Amino acid sequence: MSEEKTIAYCMKCKAKREMSTEEAVYTANGSPATRGVCSVCSCTMFRMGRTEAHDSIPKPAKQPTKKKSKKK
Ligand SMILES: [Zn+2]
Repeated sequence: MSEEKTIAYCMKCKAKREMSTEEAVYTANGSPATRGVCSVCSCTMFRMGRTEAHDSIPKPAKQPTKKKSKKK
């Protein structure tokens, strides 16, 4: 088995770079994504999309943003 690197676009390098210390996360919208660090400049990278790692983490429940307090 070969180690597969996640390629993501680095905003700082303005190029596609290998992602190191990648971590499966869910965005505030509940969309699966991967967060990591650029192997070249060490800035934070973010890549949308589901990966195998998402199977092991719980998906956050979508919270309805209905917080209307009508009080004077
Ligand atoms: Zn970079």
